[in-house]
Amino acid sequence: MKRSVPFEEEHEIFRKSLRRFLENEYVPHLEEWCDFGAMPREYWQKLGEQGYLCPWVAEEYGGMDADFLFSVILTEEIARNLGDSAIGVPLHSDMVMPYIDSYGSPEQKARWMPAAVSGEKILAVAMTEPGAGSDLAAIRATARKEGDGYVINGQKTFITNGTQADLVVVAVKTNTEVSPHQGMSLFVVERDTPGFSVSGKLEKIGIPFQDTAEMYFEECRVQADNLLGEEGRGFYYLMEKLQQERLVVSVSAQVRAEVILEATIEYCKSRELFGKPLSSMQNTQFRVAEMATEIELGRTMIDRLIVEHMKGEEVVTEVSMAKWWVTEMLNRVATQCLQLHGGYGYMVEYPVARAWVDARVQTLYAGTTEVMKTIIAKRMGL
Ligand SMILES: Cc1cc2nc3c(=O)[nH]c(=O)nc-3n(C[C@H](O)[C@H](O)[C@H](O)COP(=O)(O)OP(=O)(O)OC[C@H]3O[C@@H](n4cnc5c(N)ncnc54)[C@H](O)[C@@H]3O)c2cc1C
Repeated sequence: MKRSVPFEEEHEIFRKSLRRFLENEYVPHLEEWCDFGAMPREYWQKLGEQGYLCPWVAEEYGGMDADFLFSVILTEEIARNLGDSAIGVPLHSDMVMPYIDSYGSPEQKARWMPAAVSGEKILAVAMTEPGAGSDLAAIRATARKEGDGYVINGQKTFITNGTQADLVVVAVKTNTEVSPHQGMSLFVVERDTPGFSVSGKLEKIGIPFQDTAEMYFEECRVQADNLLGEEGRGFYYLMEKLQQERLVVSVSAQVRAEVILEATIEYCKSRELFGKPLSSMQNTQFRVAEMATEIELGRTMIDRLIVEHMKGEEVVTEVSMAKWWVTEMLNRVATQCLQLHGGYGYMVEYPVARAWVDARVQTLYAGTTEVMKTIIAKRMGL
């Protein structure tokens, strides 16, 4: 597919070696990981050792100082080769690490970033609570100042990388007297901190090797230097980083749609019925043409946003449009591709079956379709 992103030779080399690495070292293990319910820790470390995690991080913190296109390639190749279940990798690399990089002090960066780049430490971000998902301002977790630190209380849910995470960026209220926009703060909570505990893996309908968990904070004491950035700025920090988070999710969803269609075209060419290939039937051709058109539209939008995001432009409205449209398009494509597989599409053995179930989460996390539409409408002055 034609791309309008300015990939250069160094990007293509990175993509080629990452793809080969994933195909050889990771793809053969996907079934085991589904049983285990996570990508085992050693595979995080292998990614880190090869320089694939957080390539954009400054060299002094272990990264390669690479541009955002390397992150795009990481997300795309993870989505292509490992599927939606591995969304925790781009989450670690391009959704959570940026909080530490942008708001951490030099000491905090030196303390946390190198181990996350090497894959020794796995990152997570905990915003959602049982009583507050879309309505982030309604979170109830708190941190009160005590002595030279803070004491955190509250519960978080649906946390990606939850069971394995070593460092969790947690959103809490440090002041419940003021508006939530002024009273929220972010803390980095380390795995072994007393008072911090994690549930087992939540049972989900899809993304079987992405571990998702609940987190509990009971009189969990952290040092003042676990506070990220300024106290009371947490809500703004979260808003600032959502553009990239939602762009990365859209990049991933776009690739998933492309991969599912590619596999379905191959299937339709090989399946014979009524004495001819399924691909020769007009219904198949019309369906494929419709899906290819939608995918092309998605690709045009995503590539434009990648370039604008790289230039530092504020494209929150457009990224919100891409997030809802591309993830809904992925679900339409997955449903239609499953239909073209007939009964085989319902068999777990066929990749399209799992792809269909796994795609379902994309319109929910990182802000639901409805939340994206409320953002767009608000920014249009409604
Ligand atoms: C697999 C998975 C992984 C996740 N990973 C993380 C993670 O790592 N960290 C994290 O913090 N969270 C994570 N989440 C949480 C996710 O971001 C939330 O589930 C999502 O934001 C929706 O919140 P909710 O589930 O509470 O639904 P609710 O907010 O209760 O929404 C219920 C329904 O109301 C709709 N709705 C919301 N607002 C409006 C409105 N204004 N008008 C009309 N309808 C509306 C929603 O679209 C939805 O259909 C994850 C979720 C899943 C499923």
